[in-house]
Amino acid sequence: MTEAAIHEAVSDPAPALRQLRNFVGNRFIEGGKPFAVVDPATGRQHATAYEADAAIVDSAVAAARAALDGPWGSMTLAKRRALLMKVADGIEARFDEFLAAEIADTGKPHSLASHLDIPRGAANFRVFADVIAALPTESFDFDTPDGGKAINYAVRRPLGVVAVVSPWNLPLLLMTWKVAPALACGNAVIVKPSEETPSTATLLGEVMAEAGVPEGVYNVVQGFGPSSAGEMLVSHPGVRAITFTGETRTGSAIMRSAAPHVKALSFELGGKNAAIVFADADLDAAVAGLSRAVFLNTGQVCLAPERIYVERSVFDAFVTGMKAKAAALKPGLPSDAGVDFGPLISAEHRNKVLDYYRLAEQEGATVVTGGGIPVLDGDAAGGFFVEPTLWTDLPHDARVCREEIFGPCAAIIPFDSEAEAVRLANDSPYGLAASVWTRDLSRGHRIGGAMEVGISWVNCWFLRDLRTPFGGAKLSGIGREGGAHSINFYSEPTNICIKL
Ligand code: NAD
Repeated sequence: MTEAAIHEAVSDPAPALRQLRNFVGNRFIEGGKPFAVVDPATGRQHATAYEADAAIVDSAVAAARAALDGPWGSMTLAKRRALLMKVADGIEARFDEFLAAEIADTGKPHSLASHLDIPRGAANFRVFADVIAALPTESFDFDTPDGGKAINYAVRRPLGVVAVVSPWNLPLLLMTWKVAPALACGNAVIVKPSEETPSTATLLGEVMAEAGVPEGVYNVVQGFGPSSAGEMLVSHPGVRAITFTGETRTGSAIMRSAAPHVKALSFELGGKNAAIVFADADLDAAVAGLSRAVFLNTGQVCLAPERIYVERSVFDAFVTGMKAKAAALKPGLPSDAGVDFGPLISAEHRNKVLDYYRLAEQEGATVVTGGGIPVLDGDAAGGFFVEPTLWTDLPHDARVCREEIFGPCAAIIPFDSEAEAVRLANDSPYGLAASVWTRDLSRGHRIGGAMEVGISWVNCWFLRDLRTPFGGAKLSGIGREGGAHSINFYSEPTNICIKL
């Protein structure tokens, strides 16, 4: 749905629906232009959000600044950590509300949101409350040229007002992945959730206020990107740093907005991830792991592989196994029994994915399975579903093999040697994630390190200790988040040297 269409759809906002207001200074404020929030599983509006104008964005920046200059700025680390733990408790106490909100915005299966999205939303606050407590700063004492002594060490300061701009695919998980370390470091944040999925960021405002987080520390502005709340926020002179997850071209636009004030940037961007399956792999495990990787969240995971290179001798068996897994997926409404395959996020995104489905055939693909829209009954008939889709016979340089589709689809391509597999996998403008499937762990280690990506998995996918670095190479991002890496972005060291 285009922005204009969204506004048109709610020229008469339905008061019975949930109202998602802008959250500034621990209060939901009036104002802003209403827009529809649509349940992608049914295609029906389920909430109304209010697009922040320049005055609302200004007020959020002012509230955040006031928090830094007030009690939040002088709060002890111990107290700040205790508040983060209370926020995690607050999410868990209202687990069912978060679950319902996330499912209404995304249409994702109940099993996925309840096992991944909401628990990770709470866990992010606990992880960073722990990380900040355990992290030392460097300190050296040394002999000075005049024969004396000096001690030289660093202290960490918050950056200030941080803009958090987040996407729609894992809304609470990805937003809290940024908010938690930013608050752990003592910053104040203004979140601009995706216009498709504003509900959980809004609900988190209630939890922050209930937990006793001071006014202005966590603010939410609703709206769109260009010429809307997103652009107004990232170009605001009062914002010191921007942490963004989303498409690479949006990252470029944000970089331009940030340039005049030389803001600090952390970007998690798009991907076109490769998987490599060797003939010596446990093939059942590779099929199970990669079918999950391709189809989880209907392929709307930045880490999902859309290119799978398979050693020729096991190619047919692998394709057969993947086809069977795709056939076993059950699309439908999130709450229907056994449903494990949700819709895409919007009608617009579905059109984009279906365009790629058509393009694949034009580029010579053999469609192993899928390629269209599933036939569904009842409310789900209005949802934005597509079929899980696999292709073979695509040339490596096809557009479908180079451009991020962000749908439940992958091209499966044979290879004959390790060197060829590495070359093909690395031949991409993106560099987010890769996975290697082999029983030879020396080879797994070797190839894992040779991948030009932020994270390589060996015989697994989407598995990681949250203290390790996460981010992308090439067009997939700038910087790393996770553990100390997040703390290093969300704080600034001041180097102090004392001559004794
Ligand atoms: P998107 O770039 O369209 O939007 C992301 C956010 O940016 C939204 O809140 C949007 O309103 C805002 N925005 C858009 N234009 C803006 C502008 N000019 N100024 C300020 N804000 C602006 O991304 P999306 O469609 O929501 O998410 C899907 C993309 O996110 C995919 O490319 C996916 O690979 C990527 N992603 C990456 C990671 C990662 O960790 N690398 C994780 C999840 C998703």
